Amino acid sequence: MATISGPASVALRSLNASDTTFLQSLPKAELHAHLNGSIPTRTLIDLAKRYPPPADLGIDIAGHIAKLESGVTLAEISDFFALFPAIYALTATPEALAEATSAVLDAFLTPQPAPPEFTYDPAPECTYIELRTTPRATAHMSREQYLRTVLSKIESFGDRAALIISIDRRMSENDVKECVDLAIKLRGQGQPVVGIDLCGDPLKGDVAMFEGHFKRARHAGLGLTIHIAETVQNTEAESGTLLSWNPDRLGHATFLTEDHKLQFFADVPQPDTEIPPSKMLLSDPEHPFHEHFLASHKMHLDRILRESTESEEARMQLSFHFDADKGARRAAIKEVESLMQPKVAEGRRKPCIEICLSSNLLCKTVPSLEDHHIRYYLANKHPVVICTDDTLPFRTTLLAEYALLLAKPPFGLGLSREEVTQIAEMGMKARFTKPTKSTRS
Ligand SMILES: [Zn+2]
Repeated sequence: MATISGPASVALRSLNASDTTFLQSLPKAELHAHLNGSIPTRTLIDLAKRYPPPADLGIDIAGHIAKLESGVTLAEISDFFALFPAIYALTATPEALAEATSAVLDAFLTPQPAPPEFTYDPAPECTYIELRTTPRATAHMSREQYLRTVLSKIESFGDRAALIISIDRRMSENDVKECVDLAIKLRGQGQPVVGIDLCGDPLKGDVAMFEGHFKRARHAGLGLTIHIAETVQNTEAESGTLLSWNPDRLGHATFLTEDHKLQFFADVPQPDTEIPPSKMLLSDPEHPFHEHFLASHKMHLDRILRESTESEEARMQLSFHFDADKGARRAAIKEVESLMQPKVAEGRRKPCIEICLSSNLLCKTVPSLEDHHIRYYLANKHPVVICTDDTLPFRTTLLAEYALLLAKPPFGLGLSREEVTQIAEMGMKARFTKPTKSTRS
């Protein structure tokens, strides 16, 4: 039984029993869950007792565990990230890693009791999960053993679970090569390896180095998902490079620019999404098409004045200039609107956006649910999938993340059951594909 807190738990608490049951009954795919960030607290405490790591590691594991046992509050979210070295130390042997993986898969795929203070009936959090992890070589296992250990637990869930191998942005090229080679080899052996992810500190690494390896992975039939534009500091040039690889899915995509959405996505921006409506073209200098509008307006005004057959006297009237300006404005708006609603061109796609609402809110990359970029994607009928990212630090569950969609404002987005059903369906459709059984050796 996981303790949950924060915005998703508040949203879940605001739902009536019928809404909660409705959300539980929806077939859902969890496509963005990091193994090490999703280990239940009780499992970590248990691992620390049964497989105590050597004392000379320089990590205060006992202190971290004591903190976990005492229960933590949201204000201490940074403490959870400080916990990761302890988590790595606790999962450094194949036995402990296998137990941690089992616990994570159980938490998502088998019926779990409701968290304290909630009364709903136990039900699985999701129908299908793509769990992701960065293979670590430790004193007790190689990267390949790490992956085989995780895969042995994933395989026990049959068609309900698969693995995405995460490549960390801080890795050397040799490490990247080893991880991609392993992904291709294991998939070739019929193991449920379905994709490659680029993850880790969003400000580290030069993404160009990864390109050849990611293309190699795609060629071998693996899906590509990329943590992209997670922070304001991620540059437009970097996002452009990542988008040019044509990833199948994007993690977060919080700070993608309008230009990139127009350039790479097969969306037709709708009124009142992030591109301000065309009536703001003149008055809003920040409107992405403001300059374009001014230039177009001037061109049309010059043309109207030049082509006018009115008498010299009529041209002296204020009303003449008023009408000319109105005509030029209308022509310029029409021209710019056609640019704002581009035809779906060759090469533009709809990579599914992996949306992690609590993660974004708690990491403060999005100021509020009201401002969340999911609204843009929903308005533009661009596929999204609702995911948890790291249930341990964000103290959430997939059910609680879905509650953020259905709950009435200010607790949630106030979407209808029909809209939430469509979102769940989009998630199921965005699953990567497993290797065909015939490739099994
Ligand atoms: Zn992530």
